[in-house]
Order: sequence, then C-alpha cells, then structure tokens
Amino acid sequence: MSFTVHGLPVSRGIAIGRAVIVASSRVDVAHYFVKTEQVQAEIERLRSARKTVMEEIVKVQRSLGEMGPNDAHPELSALLDVHLMLLQDEQLTSGVKHWITERHYNAEWALTTQLEVIARQFDEMEDPYLRERKADLEQVVERMLRVMRGVASPVAAPAPVPVPAPGKGDALFDPTVDVPLVLIAHDLSPADMLQFKQSVFAGFVTDVGGKTSHTAIVARSMDIAAVVGARSASHLINQDDWVIIDGDAGVVVVDPSPILLAEYGFKQRQGEVERERLSRLKNTPAVTLDGQRIELLANIEQPEDAVAALKAGAVGVGLFRTEFLFMGRNGKLPDEEEQYQSYRRAVEGMQGLPVTIRTVDVGADKPLDRTPVRAGEDHLNPALGLRAIRWSLADPAMFLAQLRAILRAATHGAINLLIPMLAHASEIRQTLALVERARAQLDQRGLPHGPVRLGAMIEVPAAALTIPLFLRHFDFLSIGTNDLIQYTLAIDRADEAVSHLYDPVHPAVLHLLANTIAQARAAGKGVSVCGEMAGDVAMTRLLLGLGLRSFSMHPSQILAVKQQILRCDTAKLATWAQTVLAAEDPAALMAD
Ligand code: PEP
Ligand code: MG
Repeated sequence: MSFTVHGLPVSRGIAIGRAVIVASSRVDVAHYFVKTEQVQAEIERLRSARKTVMEEIVKVQRSLGEMGPNDAHPELSALLDVHLMLLQDEQLTSGVKHWITERHYNAEWALTTQLEVIARQFDEMEDPYLRERKADLEQVVERMLRVMRGVASPVAAPAPVPVPAPGKGDALFDPTVDVPLVLIAHDLSPADMLQFKQSVFAGFVTDVGGKTSHTAIVARSMDIAAVVGARSASHLINQDDWVIIDGDAGVVVVDPSPILLAEYGFKQRQGEVERERLSRLKNTPAVTLDGQRIELLANIEQPEDAVAALKAGAVGVGLFRTEFLFMGRNGKLPDEEEQYQSYRRAVEGMQGLPVTIRTVDVGADKPLDRTPVRAGEDHLNPALGLRAIRWSLADPAMFLAQLRAILRAATHGAINLLIPMLAHASEIRQTLALVERARAQLDQRGLPHGPVRLGAMIEVPAAALTIPLFLRHFDFLSIGTNDLIQYTLAIDRADEAVSHLYDPVHPAVLHLLANTIAQARAAGKGVSVCGEMAGDVAMTRLLLGLGLRSFSMHPSQILAVKQQILRCDTAKLATWAQTVLAAEDPAALMAD
C-alpha cells in the first residue's frame, strides 16, 4: 500500500528506485555490483566464508567438550549450536543468493541486506527469547564479514558502479543492473556519506539530520535527490520497496501507484530539461543587470571535486573542507606528505584558479570516526567543544603539519588559507604565530613554500561582533552561515527536532551578516559567504542586496545561482534589503 513520509528537503531533484536499507553499523561494508559472469564466484566466496565460520565454531565446541565436566560451559555450547543453526538457515542462505543473482550485489552487500530483512522479522516477534536471537544472527554475519575481509574478492575491481537516476545519462547504467537504487538509513556520518559519494545510489533518505548538517552538505555535493530528518523512514520502508524521493519537497513516497510514478517520472524529466538549459550558462560571466561582476566559487570536500567545480564554471574554490581527508581513518591522520599531495592535486585540478583551503574542522557533527561521542562524554555538547581551530590549537604538532603541507602546496598555485571558528584575539595570535613557525620549519628543512592570503571564517557571533579585530589580522573574511545561524539562534544544525527554528533570515542573523559584509567592504577586504545560504537561490537577491559579491557553494548549485544573478539589479536590491533588514518578520518580505 502506498504511503508518504515527510522530512527535510536537502538536495534537489527526484529519484525513483528500489530501497536499500543500510544499518548505520554496516555502512563500512563495500557496496558494488558484480557482473553476470562473476555471480557464481561471489556466491562461492560466501559459501566458503560460511564454511570457515562453521569450522571455527565446531572447533570451539570440540575444545569445550574436551574440558572436564566442571569446566564445561553448557550455555556457551548451546549458543554455539544456535549460531550453527543460523548459519544454515534457509532464509539467510537463499535470501543472500537472491540478492547476488537477481540484483548483482557483491557478497558482503547481499549478506548485510538479508541480515536487515531477517532482523526486522526478529524485531516483530512476540517471544522475547526469539527476539534476542537477532543479536546472534548479527554476530554470525559479523564473523562471516570478517572472514570475507581477509579473503580478497576474486571479482576484478570492487570499484563502485555509478547508477544514475533514470533518464540521467542512461549510457552509464550497468548493463547487468537496470534498477536504480536509493539508500535508506537511520543515520549516516559525513564520512559514511563520502564513502557513498562514488557509489551506486540515485538518492537517499535518513531518519535524522538537519538541513545544514554535514551529512546533508555532502549529499548536496553529490547532487542526488535527498531527504533527511524523515524520522522513522528506515523502519517504515522495507528492503526492495519502490520509493520516490522528492528532494525539492522533502517527501518520500513508498510503494507509489502507477499514477504517482507517472507524475514523478514527468517531474524528473522536467528537472533534466532544466539542468540541460542551465548548463548553457557555464561560460556566461556572472554579471548583474547593472554591471556588477559576482564571484562564484565552489565548495569541495576532496581534491577530485575540482573536476565538478570547473565543469560548473566556478572561478575558484571558496572552501575546501579538509577535514574530510582526516575522517574515517581509525585515528590514523594523514601526515604532512599525504596532505601536501592532496592539496597539490586540488590546486593543480583547478588549473590556475585560486583554492581556499580551510584548516581542519573536526568535531560537532563531523567526528573523525563513526562514533560521535566518546564513552562518558555524552553529556557534553560537541558543537560547543573542542572543534575546528580549538582542536587544531590543542594539537600544535598536527596543526603545524597541516600548515606546512598547505604552504608547500602554495608553490603550485594560488592558495588562500582559511581558519575556521575563530572567536578570540588569543586564538588569532596563536594561529598566526603557528603559520610563521610552519614557514620557519620549512626553511630549516630547505623545503620550498609559497605565499598565501590569510582568511578568517566568521561563524561565531562573537567574531561577527568584533569584525575590526579580524580585519586587522586577515586579508579576507568568509562567512560560515551554517554555524553563524546555529550559534546565533542556539539551534543545533544537525537536530531535525529544532530544524523549524533554524532561520537564515532571523533579524539577528541578518544584522550580523550585513555588518560583516559592510565592514569588510569598507576596509577594502574580500568577503564571501561559504555556508549553505550562498547556494540557496531563494537567498541570492538578499545577499546581493546586502552587498555580497562573492559566493561559495556546491558546484551543483552554481548555475542556478548564476541564473538568478543575471536577472538582478544590485542598486534596487540594496534599497529592498534595507527594508528586509529593518523588518520584524523579514521572511514575509522575501518574495517581494
Ligand atoms: C559554515 O559553518 O557555514 C561553514 C561553511 O562551515 P561548515 O559547514 O563546514 O561548518
Ligand atoms: Mg562552519
């Protein structure tokens, strides 16, 4: 039966596909398609893993049997019997086989998919004893995954196969699989999202998350239809259900009727036509009707994103979120050399256009690894804790390595060095001293380094209220509206429960924005916005009216914002923006 789930719209467009429910704990499992001729080998890999696990269990059972009667562990022995039984369970084996043969999932993906199917059935059982068997099933699956991890896939390259939304370049479709897939999960960390960046999914839905959570931000950069904060979507939707994701409206339609499918199919094609039309603006300069040239820059997470930035006609990178190089590495951070190579790739990828590299901003909803809070620390608020520059200053050796890597990469092209979340004069002084120390260290080692322009992010109200301090020490400012809104309004940007209060045009936010832009311009210094507001076409007129001339956003948003800019007259907008600024309810004037 068809039903609808509502959430927050994150990323434009419509995706229609079959649901793949991924448990948060299983996202590290590889998801890729195997070719028809590889199906048998993949099934064999599973059989062999299952056999190994069964042999392991039998071995343990035997050793238990060899113990004296006093040392025997009857509970353990019974548990092992259950594990053996589960491993041979028909539903598990035939289900996994189904996903491999019918859907061409790789073995690990098939196994975890079937685990999800059976786990749901366990959840619904009345008998508490049977319900608890879910944990046993998870354990045996985990053991099989571990065995498979040690056994390389005979399948050539487990490179993810991109499956675009229907109608979005059908030539890219894997010939073995013609069903687009959409990812449904309770939650995904930004690092998980990054893993899915090159993956098979045409859209995704999560139960939790706010519109400017970092998970949402990565989704936007993937340019696939996405909805977050859909509450219990991952429970309501079943594995393999047909699902429509409307990323514009924040709506998910499950098991749609033929009429709805036709309607959304039409909308999807319209979206494609619109994209095609926008792509013609790529080489058109972003100049307003009254001749103001506007700088449109790209936000990137990985050096490889430079390709998309150039393709969208960006005139540089306004924000390279380097923390994504640090995430999901089990605490083993990239060293100076690895970072240098990454920054160099980004700079070279931009072919001479400037790249703004922001120093690492981990913490809050961007934990280094999957677990967001450490044991015993769940009473703390990570958004107010050791995050961004605070984290860097707390570990000078790590920070110096990053600074040296950036300074070295500056020999290959124009780099702006951007510091996140500054609020105190002491932080500014320490940061600038460390930049100098990094240079001195490179000199001592005889390693070449290049000049950089220094910038500060304005994303804490304390910074926005002390702009002259920042203008004295920095060459440019970049306004991080995502955090500026979060900290001004005391709204956790990752929490969907308060997302209705996350208001970019709250008068307090607008005053801080207007003030920052005006003071930077008066001082003759560059100022841009690199938060999500910059890529929101509904905000373009207002930001232009407030005097902004430099916008940084996901490459996928650049052409739509450019289209807006081409229709604007900044002189008229400046007058209008003042009335918005003075209004009690600015949102009511936004459509004027
Ligand atoms: C911001 O806060 O607006 C910003 C661009 O930084 P991030 O989203 O990475 O916190
Ligand atoms: Mg920020």
